[in-house]
Amino acid sequence: MYGWTGKKALVDLSNNKVIIGEIDEELLKKYLGGRGLNARLLYDMTDKDTDPLGPDNPLIFSTGPLTGSLVPTNGRYSVTAKSPLTGIFGDGNSAGFWAPELKYAGFDLIVITGIAEKPVYIWINDGKVEIRDASRHWGKDVWETTLELQKDHGKRAQIAAIGQAGENLVGYAAIINNMKRAVGRCGMGAVMGSKKLKAVAVLGNQPVKIAYPDEHLKIVDEMLAHIYKAPGYPARSKFGTTVITDIYIRNGTLPIMNVQKSYDEQATSLTSDKFVPYTTGLKGCFACPIHCSRFTKGDGEGTYGDARSEGPEFETIIAIGPRCGNYNLPSVLKLNQILNQYGLDSISAGGVISFIMECFQKGLIKSEHVDGLDLSWGNHETIVELVKKIALAEGCGRWLAQGVRKISQEIPGSEDFAMHVKGLEPAEQEPRGMKAWGLGWAVSNRGADHLRAFPLAETTWTKEDAIRAFGSEQVVNRFAYEGKEKLVKWSEEVSAFTDSIEMCKMAQMALTMPLEMTARALWTVTGWEIDGQELLKIGERVVNLERMYNVRLGLGKKDDRLPKRYEQPITEGASQGQTFDITQLIDKYYSERNWNIETGHPTPKKLEELGLGFAVRDLP
Ligand code: SF4
Repeated sequence: MYGWTGKKALVDLSNNKVIIGEIDEELLKKYLGGRGLNARLLYDMTDKDTDPLGPDNPLIFSTGPLTGSLVPTNGRYSVTAKSPLTGIFGDGNSAGFWAPELKYAGFDLIVITGIAEKPVYIWINDGKVEIRDASRHWGKDVWETTLELQKDHGKRAQIAAIGQAGENLVGYAAIINNMKRAVGRCGMGAVMGSKKLKAVAVLGNQPVKIAYPDEHLKIVDEMLAHIYKAPGYPARSKFGTTVITDIYIRNGTLPIMNVQKSYDEQATSLTSDKFVPYTTGLKGCFACPIHCSRFTKGDGEGTYGDARSEGPEFETIIAIGPRCGNYNLPSVLKLNQILNQYGLDSISAGGVISFIMECFQKGLIKSEHVDGLDLSWGNHETIVELVKKIALAEGCGRWLAQGVRKISQEIPGSEDFAMHVKGLEPAEQEPRGMKAWGLGWAVSNRGADHLRAFPLAETTWTKEDAIRAFGSEQVVNRFAYEGKEKLVKWSEEVSAFTDSIEMCKMAQMALTMPLEMTARALWTVTGWEIDGQELLKIGERVVNLERMYNVRLGLGKKDDRLPKRYEQPITEGASQGQTFDITQLIDKYYSERNWNIETGHPTPKKLEELGLGFAVRDLP
C-alpha cells in the first residue's frame, strides 16, 4: 500500500495485551481514513447499550492517507468514541505533529479498549507498541506529563495526553498534543481517563511510501501556490483565527453573556490587533505554510502577567471572554493556558460557565451553589477558579463537569437558555445572523459544532460563485434562508472527506482548495484513481453513517433543533432583528439529502446507494 503503513494496533488495556494487524485497503478506499474510518469502526464496535465510560467503548485514533506526506496541512488526526457528554456519536480532531509521527512509528490506526488496572501510557516506537506504567504521571497536567515523557523518550517524541480533567472524567475533557493542540469536542479526554490511559507517545523513523513521487512534488507546489495566492492567506497567516473576532463584531454575530447579546462595543478590546503585543512568534503545524497559530506571553504585570501558551484561538477567546461577559485580555491569555494544561475543551467550558452565570443573574442559583463564588458577568477571577474546580473535580466542579444539558435539568426555569444541541455546547457563532451555521449546528451528528458543516461560503463567496454552485445568490446573504440547505449539505460533505483524509479545513475550506487538486494529491500519494465528485460521495457516506449511529440510539428530527433563545430577535448590532426558525430549513435539508422528512432518518434506498446497506436493519 502507498501512503499507508497498512498496520493497526489493537490495545486491550483490561488484559494488558496488544495485537498488531493489517488494515483492509478496501475499507480505507470506502471511508478514506481518519474521521470516516473511525465512524465505521465505532459503528461496528458499539451499540445502544455501550457505556461511554465503560471498557467496551473503544477509543479510536487514526491518521489519513496523506498524513506524513508533503501535502500541505496533512498533520491532523481524529479520535472517536461514544461521547460521555452527549451519549451519542462523538469525535474530536487535532492538528500539530502527533499524527505524522504515528505513521513514522509504523501505524495508521490505534484502537484502545478495556480499562487498565493502574494508570498507563502507550509507547509506540518503530513498529512496537508497549503498555507502560504511568503512575508517576497521574495527577499531573498535560504540560508536566508531556515534558516528563519527552525526557524519557526524547524531544522528538510526540505526546497526546490528558490532564486532570480527563482523569476526573469531566464530560468535556480534551486530549492535548503538542501542549496545546486539542482533540477538544465531545469529551474524548474523559473516555481516555476512564481507561486509566494518561498518554499515547509516538516516535519513529519509518518512511511513508509515495505512489508517484514526481507528480507528488508537482501537486504540492501547485497547492502551495494556491494557498499563497488565496485572498484569506495574509490575514490567517499573520493573525490566525483571531481575525474572526473582528468580523463577528462587525457583523453583530458574537455570542455575549450566554447569547443574551450579539454585539457589545467592549468586545473591541479583544480584536486581533490587541493580541499582537503579546505575540512572541508564529507557529505552523506539520507541513503547514499557513501557520495560523501563534505563541503568546503575558506582559509580566499583574495577576496574569506570567501567562504563556500557544494561541488563544478565536473560539477560546470568545468562549471565556465575551460569552462570559469578560473583556479582560490578560485573563483570556491565562485561561487559555490553564485550559490547555488541565486538558479541557474551551468551548464547552465557556458554555457551562456562561450558563451558570446567567442562572445566577436570573436568581435561579445562588453563590452557595458554587462554593460562595461571585458569578457576576465578567468576573474573570471566578472564571479562573471555576476552570480549576471543574478540572480538579473540587466542590461545585464535579457538578459543572456534567455539561449544560445535565446541569440545566437540575435548575427549573433554565431550559430556554440552556445552550446546547444534542448535549453539546455550541461554538462561538450566532446562527440568527448566519443562517447556514444555524442549520449546520442543528443537524450536526455530534451536536452543535462549527466544524461539522463549516459553511464559510455564506460569508466569503461571491454572488457569482453562489449561483454557479447552488443556483441562488441568496446563499451568500447571511440573513436569508434560501439555498442554505444546499450549502450545508455540500459543506458537510467537504468537511467529512477533509476530516477523513486528515487535511486542515483551513486549507481545504477557508482557503478554498479546489476539490480536483486535493483528489490529485490523494492519487499521487496512494495511487487511488479518485476525483472530486468521488470525494464528495465519500463525505456523504460518512455523514450518513454518523447519522445512522444516532438513529440507532433513537435520535431523529426532534433532536435537530436549536435552543429556544434563537427564536427571539437579536436586540442590537448589525444583525439586529434577526431570528432563527429551523422550520424554514429542516424539511428542505432532509429532501436535499433524500432522507425521510417525517423522521430525519436516511432512507433504505439512500443507505444502499452509499454502500451502507448493513445499517438498514438499524432503521426503526
Ligand atoms: S492552518 Fe493552522 S491549524 Fe491548520 S494545519 Fe496550519 S497551523 Fe495547523
